[in-house]
Amino acid sequence: MKTPRAFTAVLATETNTFSPIRVDIHAFKASLLARPGEHPETPTLCSAVITVGRRFAKDNGWDLVEGTAAWADPAGLVSRQTYEGLRDEILDQIETGGPFDAIVLGLHGAMVAEGYDDPEGDFLERVRDVVGAEVPIVATLDPHSHLTQRRVSMANALIAFKEFPHTDFVDRAEDAWRIARETVAGDVKPVISVFDPKMIDVFPTSTQPMRGFVDDMIRREAETPGILSLSVIHGFLAGDVPEMGTKVIAVTDNDPALGASVARDLGTALFELRGKVRSKEHSPAEALDRALEFEGAPVTIADMWDNPGGGTAGDATVLLREAIDRKLDSIAFGSIWDPVAVQLCHAAGEGATMQLRFGAKSAPNTGSPIDAEVQVIRNIRNAEQRFGDSIVPVGDASLVKLGGIEVILNSTRAQCFDTTLFTGFGIDPGQRKILVVKSTNHFYRSFALVSPLILYCSAGLAYPTDPRITPYKKAPRDIWPILDRASPEQAASAGE
Ligand SMILES: [Zn+2]
Repeated sequence: MKTPRAFTAVLATETNTFSPIRVDIHAFKASLLARPGEHPETPTLCSAVITVGRRFAKDNGWDLVEGTAAWADPAGLVSRQTYEGLRDEILDQIETGGPFDAIVLGLHGAMVAEGYDDPEGDFLERVRDVVGAEVPIVATLDPHSHLTQRRVSMANALIAFKEFPHTDFVDRAEDAWRIARETVAGDVKPVISVFDPKMIDVFPTSTQPMRGFVDDMIRREAETPGILSLSVIHGFLAGDVPEMGTKVIAVTDNDPALGASVARDLGTALFELRGKVRSKEHSPAEALDRALEFEGAPVTIADMWDNPGGGTAGDATVLLREAIDRKLDSIAFGSIWDPVAVQLCHAAGEGATMQLRFGAKSAPNTGSPIDAEVQVIRNIRNAEQRFGDSIVPVGDASLVKLGGIEVILNSTRAQCFDTTLFTGFGIDPGQRKILVVKSTNHFYRSFALVSPLILYCSAGLAYPTDPRITPYKKAPRDIWPILDRASPEQAASAGE
């Protein structure tokens, strides 16, 4: 048998269509823009197909052709030129480098570009046009994405991360390569089945009831003959697109009836959990009160909705203002995005004391800029944090101190994934009473190791958290919680 040839590439970002932060090619360069062969050995969430693919090709004696890997941290709309430019660059690599026996792509699935509500559907369709109907196209997805009919019809297998935090991204890339290998060998013929539970919610999987749901899904995937992969697309409620919502995907070995039945089971179970899966959300005052009353330390407070990982600016100051007004000490904030303030801190130098305005410059309802005399404690060029096996850049950054309050200022927008964001600046998390992080849930695993108490705080209105009041123009109106019904199949009755 001749040596199989595979192509892999990554085109990924998550678009919060309500975010004021537009995305162009510079945003991809700031996060990850690796041309063929330039991808580092450590994977980024959506680019594990490349690093896993290298190992897979070596172990299985395949030829691997690496295309471009492009990932921009979540933000607002992607410019048309940027999307089309990256898309055409990868299509050209497939066209000139082919023919291939398999295409394995790392997508996110929640990109929205100027003029494109479904860029991934457009991209997959064009890839299909180039490779023809017979070549398997397998893609990994982030569960915070939109599953469109067009994507399903253009791909042979779609696999989403099962965990939120997405700690299983390497495992899912391995699933993608396994399915590609078995398909090319003629051992399986993957078919995608989808169930739509007609809902949208936020599903953290570290705690119940979602923990049990995911464990059950993993068990069914392993134990049901004919099932190649099971995934839940959680959906992404900050993306105003026509097919926004939660979906269940079953990939079977050419058994659409089995796929439909398992997807329906899982989707019905999810529907029963509607409204019961989100973390308890505190106001800023409540969160700080509870943290101060608590005996142990550090208490981690998640500024959960100003999460750059969800496309917001990550510069809201609502919680920081509350901490300043209370003259708290032993509290550290990681981080507030403000490239101009970082530039000023770097110019002033470590040890300098200066008057600084920072934060809350990007969007309404996120507090006001802080004006304060600060001490510059630490300046770092190209600062980083870890997330599992990957390294996440936070850009040039500074640690400033106002009284007993420490604030990390960063210049590349990034949520706080890991305690290394703090330790990189010499802050020992165990030595602080309170840590405040900008993240919805990805921070959880790392901070749970050091924090005896984790609190979720809803501060300001940086993000459209409630679909019932979000001014959607394109998203469906017949999904829970905008509209309730007794079961996903029941016809929608007139609104509540
Ligand atoms: Zn996600």
